[in-house]
Amino acid sequence: MLRDTVYLDHAATTPLRAEVLDVMLPHLRDGWGNPSSAHARGRAARAALDDAHERIATCLGATAREIVLTSGGTESINLAVKGGAWAGSARGHRLVISAVEHHAVEGSARHLERHGFDVAVVGVDRDGRVDPDAVAAAVTDRTALVSVMAANNEVGTVQPIAAIAERVHRHRGVLFHADAVQAAPWLPLDVEALGVDLLSIAGHKLGGPRGVGALYIRRGTHIVAQQHGGSQERHRRAGTEDVAGAVGLATALELAVREMGTAVPRVAGLRDRLVASVTGPGVTVTGHRTDRLPHIASFVVADAEGGTITTILDLEGLACSTGSACATGSAEVSHVLTAMGYPEAEARGAVRLSVGRATTDADVDRAIALLPPAIERARAAHAASAGPDGTATDAAPRPAALP
Ligand code: PLP
Repeated sequence: MLRDTVYLDHAATTPLRAEVLDVMLPHLRDGWGNPSSAHARGRAARAALDDAHERIATCLGATAREIVLTSGGTESINLAVKGGAWAGSARGHRLVISAVEHHAVEGSARHLERHGFDVAVVGVDRDGRVDPDAVAAAVTDRTALVSVMAANNEVGTVQPIAAIAERVHRHRGVLFHADAVQAAPWLPLDVEALGVDLLSIAGHKLGGPRGVGALYIRRGTHIVAQQHGGSQERHRRAGTEDVAGAVGLATALELAVREMGTAVPRVAGLRDRLVASVTGPGVTVTGHRTDRLPHIASFVVADAEGGTITTILDLEGLACSTGSACATGSAEVSHVLTAMGYPEAEARGAVRLSVGRATTDADVDRAIALLPPAIERARAAHAASAGPDGTATDAAPRPAALP
């Protein structure tokens, strides 16, 4: 059992809320029927599953039949991007994505590219923002699908989704997907107001269970199933559903929506204290100043490796992430920061601290005390390892990808 860790990595995953665990337990212990079975035990599971669909839909301003339950954000995104692209391929084999998408979107698009699709990648500005007019310019009559994330998981920048959706839909029949996995607990996600055709969310980013997610599919929108077998989820996602997970996701989402008004300002206040504590010479806050998720404090530290800083902090009992999404030991740096125009040397110093609803003032006090010495030690290590040309020779091992 891990204790005494200050957990500031809520963008990676969040602790399961006690209220959510409480509602899930009866479904794990007693309500274990298969929702496709016709007998009473199956019907009880079906009723719980239908109720979860209904509650998730209500939170998103949708209807129950527009919700498909999946195994998480990655699966929702794969189903939306690949399933939507194949369904729209009669129009043409073209996709449009932004340069700062999560690897689930980027990887799905690259997969489709290997199957004959053109992939247009729209760039971002220094704050990580996508210009709706740049998306409009990339959409052609041959475009099957456009995917732009609601908010970025590395730097927190929120995208103008409604404006992008309006531009996309000037071309009749083009599908618009928004990855709202990181945005879900913090931004109102009314699918009508946003104007999306497809929207992905995941339970574990909002105090729900890992391994369960949902995809909103607008009524009348056809997508090609990516998983074959039974007729579950109205033929859109085969496989026996995780009823306890669905109930957990529905409850976590309801709580997040209900508490948004109080949680957002509180969490943003904690994030602002963290940001203020690091801002100074050689530290640059990344992402949009105001249009950003309330929980992410992201910055780059000059002349230091983000991986060294987070390793030092981890040894001190503070969990956070580097901002880099790169392969272990490789020289690759965050595609998000490079798309935002940060040179590779600067992007290497990226750190992401992300607070959550259970984060306390004392947690933030502890982080504020630990950060400056960790940065100094990382700078000293960087200077000591610099080669004759001033570049570091022993880059810290890096995670495979930033969640
Ligand atoms: N999209 C974004 C923006 C994310 O932050 C994540 C999680 O890291 C995902 C997609 C993938 O979600 P999951 O971990 O549920 O597969």
